[in-house]
Amino acid sequence: MKAVVYTGDRTITVEDRPKPVILAPTDAIVKVIHTTICGTDLHILQGDVPSCTPGRVLGHEGVGVVDSLGLAVTNFAIGQQVLISCITSCGSCYYCRKKMPSQCESGGWILGNEIDGTQAEYVRIPHASFSLHVLPGTIDPKVAVTLSDTVPTSYECGILNGEIQPGATVAVIGTGPIGLMSLQLAKKLFGPAMTVAVGRGTSRLEKAKSMGANHTFSVLNGQDTAISSALAVTKERGFDVVIEAVGTVESFEIAQALVGPGGTIASLGVFGESCELHLEKLWNRNICLRTRLIDAVSTPDLLKMVEAGAIDPHFLVSHSFTFKEIHDAYEAFQAPSKHGALKVVVTMDEPTTNGPL
Ligand SMILES: [Zn+2]
Ligand SMILES: [Zn+2]
Repeated sequence: MKAVVYTGDRTITVEDRPKPVILAPTDAIVKVIHTTICGTDLHILQGDVPSCTPGRVLGHEGVGVVDSLGLAVTNFAIGQQVLISCITSCGSCYYCRKKMPSQCESGGWILGNEIDGTQAEYVRIPHASFSLHVLPGTIDPKVAVTLSDTVPTSYECGILNGEIQPGATVAVIGTGPIGLMSLQLAKKLFGPAMTVAVGRGTSRLEKAKSMGANHTFSVLNGQDTAISSALAVTKERGFDVVIEAVGTVESFEIAQALVGPGGTIASLGVFGESCELHLEKLWNRNICLRTRLIDAVSTPDLLKMVEAGAIDPHFLVSHSFTFKEIHDAYEAFQAPSKHGALKVVVTMDEPTTNGPL
């Protein structure tokens, strides 16, 4: 089968790999239909994720069809269309029982990291009973790819961690897929009084505006200007909730400057370096700072919300590619402003005449 492999040299290559096989009774093999590229894959290419070693098949998001099942997987059937969760959950370890599969003792984020992932014709899913979801036929499978990671990350790490109350003021820092999805979830589900977006790319800030952000602020005009303009619309009170969806020194500085007394910073960026925490300014402001790696425990709820039309992640799919065009897909995702890219969905090519091997 064809697979996207991390070379260890800031690039990917497409290789022929043997089709994965069931290694444990709790495994499933899934034939991938659609997959996508994540910001985390770019972190891997930059060498920021030491647990992902050269030779690894990348990808932790996707939709597919169950190809084979280990004997212990009784809640799925061969041929069923499934959503692959980016988080592998054994369902029974200490952390899974605490509803924190991100820390699962034999799972967590391992797909396309510690084990081969979804940017391939087939993928082995360990602990399949808890790591796959039946995909309702009413949800467009291409759009469903966003439910592997982007939507549950926005919801769990941004929205739920931010504890948005109706009438709250909400600032979202970052206008990538996670930032924009967080904006939509906040507006559609929690009735904030005001939402603002802080970002870089003009087109993405315009997108945030079109999605209902009351104000947008560009850090390209200078970090201090963005902060003072954003604080001005809160009458200098600061925001009740700040969703930090970038993961840089700059975004964390802005988040601390924007949070108001009693407010919460929900930080969900992937941080590659240490950042200053300004306790000298924050200690007496009753703030809360939360971090989280997606647990993907909300995925069944989110599937129902998409089915019911309560939320709509459709806008996230900005580009579609075939697997043959995977290098173009990476290029578009790596230069999102140039290509206007949010999520790029990659659809597997029709099987070769040899059939799956
Ligand atoms: Zn991802
Ligand atoms: Zn576990």
